[in-house]
Amino acid sequence: MHDLSPTAAVTRGSDELFARARAVTPGGVNSPVRAFNAVGGTPRFIRSAQGPWLTDVDGNRYVDLICSWGPMLLGHAHPAVVAAVQEAVSRGTSYGTPTEGEVALVEEIVARTPVERLRLVSSGTEATMSAIRLARGFTGRDVVVKFAGCYHGHVDSLLAAAGSGLTTFSIPGTPGVPASSTELTLVLPYNDREAVAAAFREYGDRIACLITEAAPGNMGVVPPTPGFNAFLAETCRNHGALFISDEVMTGFRASRQGQWGLDGAREGWAPDLMTFGKVMGGGFPAAAFGGRADVMAHLAPEGPVYQAGTLSGNPVATAAGLATLRAATGDVYARLDEVADALRAGVVDAFTAAGLPHVIQSTGSMFSVFLTDPADGPVSTFAEAQRTDVAAYGAFFHAMLDRGVHLPPSAYEAWFVSSSHDDRAVDHVLDALPAAAKAAA
Ligand code: PLP
Repeated sequence: MHDLSPTAAVTRGSDELFARARAVTPGGVNSPVRAFNAVGGTPRFIRSAQGPWLTDVDGNRYVDLICSWGPMLLGHAHPAVVAAVQEAVSRGTSYGTPTEGEVALVEEIVARTPVERLRLVSSGTEATMSAIRLARGFTGRDVVVKFAGCYHGHVDSLLAAAGSGLTTFSIPGTPGVPASSTELTLVLPYNDREAVAAAFREYGDRIACLITEAAPGNMGVVPPTPGFNAFLAETCRNHGALFISDEVMTGFRASRQGQWGLDGAREGWAPDLMTFGKVMGGGFPAAAFGGRADVMAHLAPEGPVYQAGTLSGNPVATAAGLATLRAATGDVYARLDEVADALRAGVVDAFTAAGLPHVIQSTGSMFSVFLTDPADGPVSTFAEAQRTDVAAYGAFFHAMLDRGVHLPPSAYEAWFVSSSHDDRAVDHVLDALPAAAKAAA
């Protein structure tokens, strides 16, 4: 049994706020994983953040390895982003009319990626939902293919669990989603070319699109096997379906050009549609979907497929996103790699010394630590990811939290670093690792 007892730090302020929050908000949180359900204990209520550090309401400080679940590529309160936001706010916060900032942000994304045209929205969920609607409208087909373990936001048709056979349609993954919303969704095992080929053999002429995380980070980091994304793009093309690469998490993080920069750009292929979020909003609600010009021409008001948003392209969010992307130079990505390399090496040393079996998987600076036996090989599917020792992770998580390091409170999440993680922050994590690994062993 692992000890999941409350941490040694004073948490009175967080405890009180959590009690108040639970009275008025389900689970006390506004997004489930924040509740610490997977690791036990009280979530820390954060009062402020600067660079790589979070400060909670009790004054405890933590090196942040969540980075808002991806967006904070430059760290918290980066001066260029703060200045851009302050300047934008001073000119008003939302007009419901077009702005120059939207054009500049879209141009920046078009310049970095293979998308030809882009539409701004406010969340990753909206981006994937809209991309699927557009794919269905463009192809005149209904079936959507996704992979088990890939998360694309809480879109009804994508909250689906695999049916009983590989090429049978799915059942809702949560109450509240009617069977009719998932009966056109096929859920396949990730990295499984034969399953993809079989699904397209059987339903190829009904498939509107296949959507995948460009490199899954929502079952822990499970990179595509070499050539897998190219295979998906080609299979879709051969059957007249659209290939949607969801880069909400990997976009502008896995590399300057996202995951596509690590595979498509090198291998010479492009998705038909892509979705973005997180980093491109610089910590504000901004997301996007885009791709082939002929497909995007089907979107209202140019084409018949409806999609809209009151706060889409919000001037403050676009200012934060643009400032973030403009500041994300080669030096930033080099620092992210350095930080991730140092942390991965520290985890290997600490876990090896503690005799804790582990497998680390990465794409760019995004990585996660599976508490699985390396003798079982790399984790390449959701079923394999689920072998991770959740209880040991909980013990490790709390031992790190006690030592001032805030990891994601779930064994199935990526660890995110920022370019503001300086040597002091990295050393703080490295110092915490050995004892925390021992606590989990
Ligand atoms: N797609 C991916 C790959 C994600 O990781 C997420 C969120 O974590 C989403 C879509 C949904 O984004 P949002 O939470 O902004 O709705």
